[in-house]
Amino acid sequence: MEMVRIDVGQRSETVRRANLSSIARELHAHGPLSRSELVTATGLTRSAIRGLIGEFVAAGLVTEERAAPLGTPGRPSTVVRLRPEQTVVLALEISVDSIAAAIVGLGGVVLARARAERPRGHTSVDDIVADLAALVAELEVGHPWRQASIGIGVAVVGVVRRTDGCVSMAPNLGWRDEPLGTRLARALVTTDRIDVANEADLGALAEHRRGAAVGASNVAFISGEVGVGGGLIVDGRPLTGAAGYAGEIGHIPLDPDGLPCRCGSVGCWETRVGEEALLRLAGLPEDGGHAAVDAVIRDAEAGDPRAVAAFEEVGRWLGIGLAGLVNVLDPELVVLGGRFARIHPHIVGSMAAQLERRALPAPRSLVRVVPAELGVDAPLIGAAELAFEPFLSDPATWLAIRAGRPQLASA
Ligand SMILES: [Zn+2]
Repeated sequence: MEMVRIDVGQRSETVRRANLSSIARELHAHGPLSRSELVTATGLTRSAIRGLIGEFVAAGLVTEERAAPLGTPGRPSTVVRLRPEQTVVLALEISVDSIAAAIVGLGGVVLARARAERPRGHTSVDDIVADLAALVAELEVGHPWRQASIGIGVAVVGVVRRTDGCVSMAPNLGWRDEPLGTRLARALVTTDRIDVANEADLGALAEHRRGAAVGASNVAFISGEVGVGGGLIVDGRPLTGAAGYAGEIGHIPLDPDGLPCRCGSVGCWETRVGEEALLRLAGLPEDGGHAAVDAVIRDAEAGDPRAVAAFEEVGRWLGIGLAGLVNVLDPELVVLGGRFARIHPHIVGSMAAQLERRALPAPRSLVRVVPAELGVDAPLIGAAELAFEPFLSDPATWLAIRAGRPQLASA
């Protein structure tokens, strides 16, 4: 058995590439691992692991060191550790209230991060791109990243065409068909690959890789901010749809005679569970923002009946929509992110009651609904994960570039 695996590994360039990818993914997801743990995790032989790790070491991407003996007989296993600063991505985020940038090393190590508040409302793509470039310039002073950069990931509060980073629609920014990826490349003066995606999709990816949904294969992530976004993981993979538009769950039409929605339709889910709905129910101005939401939380905690009722009503509509998602998707986990994570204790009762009443018993009995773990940075962390993906899928190409060799053709 072992002989066959080694033989195939040595013969086939395709297999070598896949094996390098498996090792990179294990180290990226789990941090330092012993060679023995890598053998177990990848199913590769010890000698195959040794050879492949040697390639990463030669390129300067990982180090190997002897683990301290644990008092057990035999040789201590060698621990393989990524060098995060050697392989980095630039992660950017454009959300309703802020913009953010981070330099993130392989393994998900945040080396530098900055966030700047921005006023709500329509802003030109040129202004936002200029502000992001200024934020990156600040980070760059202490953390030169370009030499080690393998790509740029961008989370944006809008509907994105993944193929070219064009933002088809971002009602909160007032954008329509804006070529964000191209503009960023020019402003950052870079030829690095730039991947742009919807911020809720990337929040889902981040929670799946590093947060509340680690290990789960079927996940619905629902993020409440001003609007309501979502990201779906189906059989371990993000559901993107034909062009990357999938997951706009805030715009499921739930209320045919309801309020007008920012998207142009009427009675979308977010008109019942979004921030404006909560503030309206609590008797506050709809554009009160985070400060007003905080006030409703404080009032509810003090027992104010109007605030308590506002949360119950939002929770009720959240449960109604969730019942539909559970029936359609059969997720093992629903992760409530963004503002929903903050208000989770206040809405969980009425939400659970609707789920109990409306979801089919079989999928309902399997699903857990939990708050997100990564907080406000989830989309930024997801943007980094998006940018790491080409490297993780095919580290061999990058190893060849690092070694200054011509790239090897895929077999
Ligand atoms: Zn809508």
